Amino acid sequence: MSKHIPQSDIVVLGAGMVGASLVHLLKPALARGMSLTLIDRQALNWDGDIASRPPSFDGRATALSYGTQQILSQLGVWGLMAERACAIEHIQVSDQGRFGQTQLHASEQNAEALGYIVENAVIGQGLLSGLEQPGVSIKAPAQVQGVQMNADGALLTFDNGEQLQASLLVLADGARSALAQQLGIQHERRAYGTHALVTQVEVDREHGHWAYERFSEDGPIAFLPLNKKDFAVVWTLADDQIEQVKALPEAEFLARLQQQIGYRLGRLMRVGERASYPLALVQSKEQVRRSLVLLGNAAHSLHPVAGQGFNLALRDAAVLAEYLNHAWQQNQPLGDLALLQAYEQQQQADQRNTIMASDLLPRLFGSKLPGMALLRDAGLLSMSALPTARKLFTRHAMGLGQRAAKLPATPLSGESA
Ligand SMILES: Cc1cc2nc3c(=O)[nH]c(=O)nc-3n(C[C@H](O)[C@H](O)[C@H](O)COP(=O)(O)OP(=O)(O)OC[C@H]3O[C@@H](n4cnc5c(N)ncnc54)[C@H](O)[C@@H]3O)c2cc1C
Repeated sequence: MSKHIPQSDIVVLGAGMVGASLVHLLKPALARGMSLTLIDRQALNWDGDIASRPPSFDGRATALSYGTQQILSQLGVWGLMAERACAIEHIQVSDQGRFGQTQLHASEQNAEALGYIVENAVIGQGLLSGLEQPGVSIKAPAQVQGVQMNADGALLTFDNGEQLQASLLVLADGARSALAQQLGIQHERRAYGTHALVTQVEVDREHGHWAYERFSEDGPIAFLPLNKKDFAVVWTLADDQIEQVKALPEAEFLARLQQQIGYRLGRLMRVGERASYPLALVQSKEQVRRSLVLLGNAAHSLHPVAGQGFNLALRDAAVLAEYLNHAWQQNQPLGDLALLQAYEQQQQADQRNTIMASDLLPRLFGSKLPGMALLRDAGLLSMSALPTARKLFTRHAMGLGQRAAKLPATPLSGESA
């Protein structure tokens, strides 16, 4: 007699920022009886220790675009993040040692903020709360070892031998997804030859909700406002410099960083823990197959210079959820290839434009080729001089340049935005 294999309409593999967001976005179908299993190899109720947290919710802080904040509000999870979020009201973009610079202001968009900086651990608390609801099973920690596509969808095998059958499998298991590789899905990886050094600094005056993006010979540096006098810093450094700079004594580290940013934001006083991430553009060569979708870093992992990785992935997830919620309501199969291709098609332009901008910026500003510096000056100056260009650029950075997905009508956790 064949053994009984548990079934789930949707399996989301990976409870990072993107997998967890998708569960919230699928609330309408869940309310109508759909079953979903969310799996992560790490426990989701971590303690204070960074090492025990899922990678999405480590010591970094993330720039959430205004569009992302609007989505999280509608899902009812923003309330938990709001009191620890810092609004970005102004951004100054400049090129070290050059005269070109531009400034972007929320007021030009009649918005209260261009975006928000939130610590990833706080985003995790927001996204992982309210997941337990009728229709949702959470398996974490649980390690999926194998996947096989079959006539009913995808059959997952855990390392303890248990199995789970899904009509639709969403791989949100991070860059270079091991399961996608098992299924023969290839990816393209282009390393930038740089690492992001991530830390927090305290300065001697309040930041006034200004963010600074500075392009230097080493690569871009972002200072993102957090608490009154604190900034989250993302500093791009060449691969062969990263370990040495990361290990500098505090005073030398601060002096080197101050030299890069100048005194526009005040004097740097203290630095927190330092972590580093190798930077590469990783793109999966396929994002959908019958009964299969790759989402988030599993589909595309970007240079963080423009702070767009999660913002783009959340827009993908919102559009995917719109299709799946509708299909469930219409009694259509969730793994239908035409349905999944329609989702992919709809997100193609947004993905292409966002990936292109995130890839171009570090290459343009990192280039030492003659003439490139003048081109950068021209770009920054014309942005500064032309209100329309600046407005369009700002709208894209705010995550407002695209058609908004239809979101669940009521907040998931019953909390108001
Ligand atoms: C330095 C840096 C700064 C950034 N700043 C920004 C920013 O300001 N704004 C922005 O929008 N984006 C930013 N990003 C991008 C953002 O961090 C990513 O887009 C986001 O983390 C992607 O999340 P994810 O859920 O797709 O993947 P991940 O965070 O990698 O999550 C994948 C999950 O899958 C689980 N998993 C993997 N394999 C298995 C398995 N076999 N079985 C079970 N579970 C598994 C993992 O435990 C993990 O929890 C930044 C990235 C970096 C590196």
